[in-house]
Amino acid sequence: MSSPARPRSPALSALLALTVLSALLTACAPPSLQRHDGIAFGTNVALSYYGPRDEMLFLEFIRSLQDYENQMTIWDRELPSDVMTLNAQAGLSPRPLPPEAATVLRRALYWAEQSGGTFDPTVGPLVGLWGVATDHPKRPADSEIAAALPLVGWQKVEDRGQDGFFLTRPGMKIDLGAIAKGYGADEGARLLRARGLSGIVDISGNLFLVGSKPDRSPWRVGVQDPFKPRGQYLGVVSLSEGSLVTSGIYERYFTDEEGQRWHHILDPATGFPADSGLAGVTIVRSPSLDADALSTAVFVMGLHRGYAFVEGLADTEAVFVTTDRDLWLTPGLAEHFRLTGEFTLRTGRP
Ligand code: AMP
Ligand code: MG
Repeated sequence: MSSPARPRSPALSALLALTVLSALLTACAPPSLQRHDGIAFGTNVALSYYGPRDEMLFLEFIRSLQDYENQMTIWDRELPSDVMTLNAQAGLSPRPLPPEAATVLRRALYWAEQSGGTFDPTVGPLVGLWGVATDHPKRPADSEIAAALPLVGWQKVEDRGQDGFFLTRPGMKIDLGAIAKGYGADEGARLLRARGLSGIVDISGNLFLVGSKPDRSPWRVGVQDPFKPRGQYLGVVSLSEGSLVTSGIYERYFTDEEGQRWHHILDPATGFPADSGLAGVTIVRSPSLDADALSTAVFVMGLHRGYAFVEGLADTEAVFVTTDRDLWLTPGLAEHFRLTGEFTLRTGRP
C-alpha cells in the first residue's frame, strides 16, 4: 500500500513557485550583452556578445592576439617577432614565417598590387624614419627620405613558398601595422561564430559585427569624426553583419617645431604622410583583413581615385570624409547611414 503524499509546507511551496517563476522569467528575458575589455596589439580591445559571460572566450581571444603580435610586431622588444627576424634577413636570404603571419603578408602583397602600391607593407623604413607612433617622432630630412624610398616597393619582396619570403634589398622592412588589426578582428569573429554567439569585435575601432542581435534589429555603429577626439562620431551606420574599418588623420599624429601636423598614413610614393584631401575613410567589407588594408590604401588614393577603386570591388562600401568636411558614401551605404555631425552629405559620384 502506498503511503499518502505528505502535504508540503507553505514555505517550501512558495520557494518552489519562486524558483519556477524565476526560471520562466530567465527563459523569456533577452540575453544580456557581455563586454570584455583588454589590451593587445598595443591598443584597446573589446569583445561584446549576447549570452552568458564566458571569461575563457575572452582569454582565448587575447591569447590569439598575443600570438599574432609575437609573430608580426616590429616594435622593439626583447624577443624579436618573426617579421623582425625576416627584416633582419633582408638582402641575405629568404625566411619562412609562421602560417598566420604568412597569410597576412601574402594578402598585404595582394592589396599592394591591387592598389597600385598606395597600400604597401614594405613602408617599414619610412615608418621608422617618421616614428609617428613612437615617443620621438620627427620630420625626417629630405635626404633621409630619398635614401629610404628605394627600399620601399612590394615588387621587391619575393614569395618563395615553402622557403619563405625574401626581401631582396638590405635595409628593407616589412610593416604589417595597416592590416594586422583586421586579421585580429577576423579571429574574434571566428571565435564568436564557433560558439554560436552574436556580438561585436572591436580592436581599436577595427570592428566586426557578427550574427544578429536578439531582437533582430541591425547593429548601429558610430563612424569616427576625424576632426574630433576618438569616440566622437559624425554618423551612424546600421548593418546586420560585417566588418567596418576606419583610417584617419586623428589616429596617430604629431606636431613639429614649425607647428605642422603630420599623421601616420604614409604615401609610399613620396615618403610623406598622405596629403590626399581626405581626413578619414571607413571601409565596409569582410573579412576585416581586407577592410583594414583597403582603409589605408583608399585613404592614400584620395576621394576620386579611391571612390572609383571601391566601386570596382565586389561587396565593398565606403564612407569618405574630406578635409573640407564633405562626406561621400558609395551607393550601397546610402540607406544604412545617418549623419549626426556637421558635415555636408554629398550624393552621386565625386
Ligand atoms: P591604418 O591605421 O590601418 O591605416 O595603418 C597605418 C599604419 O600602417 C601606420 O602606423 C604604419 O605602421 C603603417 N602604414 C603607414 N602607411 C602605410 C601604407 N601606405 N601602406 C601600408 N602600411 C602603412
Ligand atoms: Mg588599415
